[in-house]
Amino acid sequence: MKKKCVIIGSGLGGLSCGYILLKNGYDVTILEQDNQIGGCLQCFSRDGVKFETGMHFIGSLDKGQTLSYLTHYLDIDKDINLNRLNTKAYDVVSLNGDRFCFANGKENFIETMASYFPKEKDNLRIYFDLIEKIAKASSLHSLNYDEYDNIINTKYQTQTINEVIDNIIQDSLLRDVLVGNLPLYAGVKDKTPFSTHAFIMDFYNQSAFRVVGGSDSIALSLAKSINNQGGIIVTNKKVKHIVCDESKAIGVETEDEMFYQADIVIADIHPTCVMKMLDTKMIRPAFRQRINNIPNTIGGFSVYLKFKKDKVPYMNSNFYGFKNNSPWNCDMYDENTWPKGYLYMHFCHKNNPTFAESGVVLSYMKMQEMEPWINTFVNNRGEDYLEFKNSKAKKLLSEVEKDFPVLKDNIESFYTSTPLTYRDYTNTKDGSMYGVVKDVSLGSSCRVHHRTKVPNLLLTGQNINSHGMLGVLVGTIVTCSALLGEENIYNQIKQANK
Ligand SMILES: Cc1cc2nc3c(=O)[nH]c(=O)nc-3n(C[C@H](O)[C@H](O)[C@H](O)COP(=O)(O)OP(=O)(O)OC[C@H]3O[C@@H](n4cnc5c(N)ncnc54)[C@H](O)[C@@H]3O)c2cc1C
Repeated sequence: MKKKCVIIGSGLGGLSCGYILLKNGYDVTILEQDNQIGGCLQCFSRDGVKFETGMHFIGSLDKGQTLSYLTHYLDIDKDINLNRLNTKAYDVVSLNGDRFCFANGKENFIETMASYFPKEKDNLRIYFDLIEKIAKASSLHSLNYDEYDNIINTKYQTQTINEVIDNIIQDSLLRDVLVGNLPLYAGVKDKTPFSTHAFIMDFYNQSAFRVVGGSDSIALSLAKSINNQGGIIVTNKKVKHIVCDESKAIGVETEDEMFYQADIVIADIHPTCVMKMLDTKMIRPAFRQRINNIPNTIGGFSVYLKFKKDKVPYMNSNFYGFKNNSPWNCDMYDENTWPKGYLYMHFCHKNNPTFAESGVVLSYMKMQEMEPWINTFVNNRGEDYLEFKNSKAKKLLSEVEKDFPVLKDNIESFYTSTPLTYRDYTNTKDGSMYGVVKDVSLGSSCRVHHRTKVPNLLLTGQNINSHGMLGVLVGTIVTCSALLGEENIYNQIKQANK
């Protein structure tokens, strides 16, 4: 008899766990609260144009690079079409009125940065050697499951980004340039571990791409494989309760009073939501309290732009603009100082386009600002909410237009989202962008383990290991290893990549 696994949530974490478990003989049902699968992988269309909500570019996908092993194992690579970002400038950081490019590859990165900061060339090498060393300490780099270097990992999980960079780099502008992509992980000064910075730098520095036509093709590819293997994905099914007997979970109950029996339950949702679903004594009050008290990364405000036809040249880079000449502390704003920084990107609808059809501008937004509408739901929040979003969008766009004057007369229409949008579409606590924080001062008390005290209830998704395409898939390997064995999964990944 096949073991029945019920997965709560069809984000990247839930879908990829479903795929692996089906491949290994489990009977899998995935329950999704929304009417679309994918969580942050979902896209939406307005006015004939498609927009991505939470996966704008991905990295390390060239043959032999870390993510390529996983996409090939998950059989996603056959269904997604990639458009490479500018290898000389996949990221462009704007500070002090100057623009600094991040080039792909360690040597190119060092050479390009050293062209702006020649005196720092040796230090840049020390910095990048360290990035590489930390990334390579992960067993997924070598695909040898026992090659995990715990000493290096622990060391740089307990030192902050600024602490490490300030020790290596002398020039204060270069220190800021190197953290120009902070919005990709909502890094916070004196809190975020250097290891988080190192993994993201390495991930995109290996190679960087947009998914042509939208990152929902990743979710659709996994869903197709899941259905082909006999797995079931049910949308509009919000789980409200994980039902337990004295010693284990026995299934889940949905809001429409359906019961799904399970031998294994996997939750690809925010851990505080899991706590709300459990009333068993197996979860001790102290554990519940710790999980509920973990802070979350800040939320985001996005302006989705539809451009006039053939007016805005396609930008094959991501642009990070900062008003105060430092990427740090953009989360510490008030009404007058917002937005302190933004990330601007174009969507890629066909390979190597000349003009962009659409783009997105993303800036931080705290959930506290949403207080007047906290009890409202999508499309029903009132006129004042629409006015709030409109005025924020105009303020943000006026900043972007200073860097990109071409936008002034060439935006046909725009749409917005706030932390409430993410809270309501993906059930993420506080509408947080990347889930629970990583904070060196909180140490292990802000870590979420994939195992729980309910022996057959596992957690997965961005809160387990890290957010993002690679972070979530590493979490998936960790979660599935608890059922299938780590060595077994590594061998399967190796086999698939032979
Ligand atoms: C604005 C933004 C931009 C980003 N850009 C990038 C990027 O460029 N590159 C990158 O790699 N990463 C990016 N990320 C991060 C990445 O999108 C996420 O880390 C990842 O998609 C999270 O996947 P997940 O499976 O953990 O969770 P989610 O995608 O949040 O999926 C959870 C799913 O569970 C469902 N669910 C919740 N509660 C219930 C319930 N009670 N019952 C049933 N279903 C439920 C939700 O509806 C959702 O579908 C971005 C994120 C954001 C917010």
